[in-house]
Amino acid sequence: MTSSPVPTRQTSGQPPTSAAAGTRLDPWFGSYAERTHGMRASEIRALFAVANRPEVVSLAGGMPFLQGLPLDTLAELAQQVVATRGLTALQYGSGQGDETLREQVLEVMRLEGIEAHPDDVVVTTGSQQALDLVTRVFIDPGDVVVAEAPSYVGALGVFRAYQAEVVHVPLDEDGLVPELLEETLTRLEAAGRRVKFLYLVPNFHNPAGVSISLERRPRILEIARRHHVLVLEDNPYGLLSFDGDVLPALRSWDDEGVIYLGSFSKTFAPGYRVGWAVAPHAVREKLVLASESAILCPSNASQLAISTYLANHDWKGQIKVYREQYRERRDATISALAEYLPDASWTVPTGGFYTWVKLPEGLDARDMLPRAVTARVAYVPGTAFYFDGQGADHMRLSYCFPTPERIREGVRRLAGVVSGEAEL
Ligand code: PMP
Repeated sequence: MTSSPVPTRQTSGQPPTSAAAGTRLDPWFGSYAERTHGMRASEIRALFAVANRPEVVSLAGGMPFLQGLPLDTLAELAQQVVATRGLTALQYGSGQGDETLREQVLEVMRLEGIEAHPDDVVVTTGSQQALDLVTRVFIDPGDVVVAEAPSYVGALGVFRAYQAEVVHVPLDEDGLVPELLEETLTRLEAAGRRVKFLYLVPNFHNPAGVSISLERRPRILEIARRHHVLVLEDNPYGLLSFDGDVLPALRSWDDEGVIYLGSFSKTFAPGYRVGWAVAPHAVREKLVLASESAILCPSNASQLAISTYLANHDWKGQIKVYREQYRERRDATISALAEYLPDASWTVPTGGFYTWVKLPEGLDARDMLPRAVTARVAYVPGTAFYFDGQGADHMRLSYCFPTPERIREGVRRLAGVVSGEAEL
């Protein structure tokens, strides 16, 4: 095939030019495992360098707004951890996670109607690691994961890395559409495909901003159960509802058919990198083994910092502070969209970080992005949130980080770019 001293590998998804370029640039190109061919930098990561420049209003990343955190109190708590439990905090710990923290996690989950035992909880390095572990434990190349259309870009990256095929099922303003889920699972079953799990972000969806309605939740579970499909409920935003109403988690109806993922990243701080999984007993055993082989154990220092925070600070009050901050930003986003982009349409989230904007007819969010960045505003094109390149007519706007004034300015700049495109 080639006279190059380094063997090349052609895969169906890769044009020969990029394979040849890879050979020239990377002497190890021919040695990579097959699964790495599905790995690619997320569209968001490529954007971060430009989007983080101060003159750009970034409506792209999902960084929580941390300025409301009581840093002095947190510094005291961190000092207390090292002073009183330093030799534990700095030591290796349990692969499943700190037992006290696992008990505290139960209290957090009770707010969403989940009753569990500390043994059911596996602490992970953010819920992102839990996504990786679940996928590692369940997916063989070619297996199917069913996910909402659109779906969380970071989960799609994991599914790709383990060579799953993602089949999307549409959502609407009440979340995943049960009838379409039924149809899809029946079709896949008839085609002899193995659906390993149904991946859902039930609350304040990333990127769509919608939640699965109370009425749909048991229906979705019933359909999944009937088709013998495990549900992976990824719920980092559930407690961030603007009116304080918290919907019961899917896991609260079903201990055996649902793996629930939680995180402290949005309700406290992502820097400690602490999340968790709650899984049926046998699954939990596998997740702990997989996690031990990946990282030995989650960071004791991070776990004890969070555990001390939960025990000594009004963490529910902090969540209320976050809700207020994000509600104000949501309001700024929606009113700016109505004022500056009346020809677009968008979801109106009742919690969380994101709104999903449909552009006026004929516009392509990915093509438009370089011009938007030149106009000093950034967003994530809808294509990032699909397995198969759909979604060019949408964009995700994150309102979590900029001030309301900056959001208004960002949407105003975006409108300028959109009207310029429309005239082209
Ligand atoms: N799931 C969803 C839906 C997310 O939006 C994120 C973060 N953007 C994660 C998982 C990962 O969060 P973390 O690893 O910080 O817990």
